[in-house]
Amino acid sequence: MKNPQLEVEIRELKLRHAWGISRGVATSKENVFVSIEHEGIVGMGEAGPNSRYDESAESTVDFLDKARTLLNKYPLWHFEDLGWAILEQAPGQTAAKAALDIALMDWFCKKHDLPLYRFLGLNPALTPLTSFSIGIDTPERMQQKVHEAAPYPILKIKLGSDNDEAIIRAIRAVTDKTIRVDANEGWTDRQEALEKVEWLATEKVEFIEQPMPAAMVDETAWLRERSPLPLIADESVKGSKDIHQLKGVFDGINIKLMKSGGIQEALRMIRIARSLDLSIMLGCMVESSLAISAAAALSPLVDYADLDGNLLLAEDPYRGVTVAEGKLMLTDVAGVGAVFNEIDG
Ligand code: MG
Repeated sequence: MKNPQLEVEIRELKLRHAWGISRGVATSKENVFVSIEHEGIVGMGEAGPNSRYDESAESTVDFLDKARTLLNKYPLWHFEDLGWAILEQAPGQTAAKAALDIALMDWFCKKHDLPLYRFLGLNPALTPLTSFSIGIDTPERMQQKVHEAAPYPILKIKLGSDNDEAIIRAIRAVTDKTIRVDANEGWTDRQEALEKVEWLATEKVEFIEQPMPAAMVDETAWLRERSPLPLIADESVKGSKDIHQLKGVFDGINIKLMKSGGIQEALRMIRIARSLDLSIMLGCMVESSLAISAAAALSPLVDYADLDGNLLLAEDPYRGVTVAEGKLMLTDVAGVGAVFNEIDG
């Protein structure tokens, strides 16, 4: 029988607005799309490489080229064995690993004619609300983005510049929605971080994501002891092996397929975090509706969702999960829940 065929393609995804976080600004993103064709079924996957983790479209393609022989070593329906082989192929490059794992699970679920959430035994009515992220910009432009985010009941505000207080005041002048704050490791002084968190607690903020750099573990634990708001780890946690050391440092973790290396590892992380009484958020990078739909299929298992990477795109090459008044609405399409968008793609 013919071996599975892997195809890899880099695609530029244009953003609706320049996207600013504490590390920099971007107007488009290069993601890598893969397909695995076997026995007449095509599984699709996506990598959203992130320079924070030493990834690029090129490093992703390089990993995929080296990993393609794994598809000949294991039958696709042994996705457990194949999934481990992909994770252990080389360190890092988790976005590339996620693309393969998403494609593998997409193939398997299509083969069995099941949406991923049904294969996992999950209730689609239990999806959480997703937040909508407002990137760092001038306070005036951030106000404009808040107006455009009218359909979304929860906002995630990126902080970590010198302008934090002015930004929150500007946003509070135009909305009283629940706000989640993501500092993206932007605060490097623990006393200053505490003062910011204490002030934010008076501004109807629900929690703070990654206030301090991942390397500042002791300072973050110090902050958490005094913080009136829960602290959620993002850059401090990639895979399941990172979670145990976060107990006492954070109150919860932000799981992303692009950090974990795929669906299978994200599921392990959800179970470990639950066993440690950590709250769980499911987040994303800038991704099309393909990878976002795959993550959304797991969302009935988590407390918070921040699955808006596709909503930031000017054109989306896929369609899948939608958002209704903030709530993630899963599709009944077999596989991870997305189809190629022939109109825009
Ligand atoms: Mg974050």
